[in-house]
Amino acid sequence: MLTEVAEQLALIRQEIRVNALEVGRNPETITLVAASKNQPIGRLEEAIAAGQRVFGENRVSETKDKWPLLRQRHPDLRLHLLGPLQTNKAKEAVRLFDVIESLDRPSLATKLAQEMDKSCRRPVLFVEVNTGEEPQKSGVIPGRLKDFLELCRGEHGLTIEGLMCIPPVNEEVSLHFALLAELGERYGCGGLSMGMSEDYALAVRFGATQVRVGRRLFGQRCG
Ligand SMILES: *Cc1c(COP(=O)(O)O)cnc(C)c1O
Repeated sequence: MLTEVAEQLALIRQEIRVNALEVGRNPETITLVAASKNQPIGRLEEAIAAGQRVFGENRVSETKDKWPLLRQRHPDLRLHLLGPLQTNKAKEAVRLFDVIESLDRPSLATKLAQEMDKSCRRPVLFVEVNTGEEPQKSGVIPGRLKDFLELCRGEHGLTIEGLMCIPPVNEEVSLHFALLAELGERYGCGGLSMGMSEDYALAVRFGATQVRVGRRLFGQRCG
């Protein structure tokens, strides 16, 4: 019998597939990132047993508690950082994560470049874009993106593989997905991380290469 997580995983994968095919995209080009913050280890193990290999966490401290052991047992796991990163945690983040999706300011770009030069690890980087220009939210506003990318690429020699956004809660998300896709195209960032539990199918239709799904896959978070 399939566990609940395994069942959800199959449904989500199927929905990604159907939506990709409907808009003429290859489903293989879309990565499901299992957003596992505040989820019990048991549910992560269920997802791993069902074949899921890519997970997203929001905090460095929680990642240090949860993942080293699981990583030892499953060396092919890949971890994405989805939440805001404090500059003083950049060193640990470079060590812990394969992908950092929340690069959002010059001081962090400087620090990540330094830490990557010092270590032999080079996580893939995504720039977070504040598509709704919400003052309380992190992310580069669209009007500053060009300069920020030039700084990352030119001054720091960083490779930026994509853009990430978290649309405002009460707005039509498709406008934000379309904007992120347009910015990605304009500035040569091929990866698009967008879409969460409520709207990942729509995000796929708008070109997402990564969707980040938490509650729909694992159920409610503990806290
Ligand atoms: C928690 C989180 C998600 C997943 O959210 P769900 O609504 O549980 O799918 C995706 N992206 C980020 C940045 C998150 O913090």
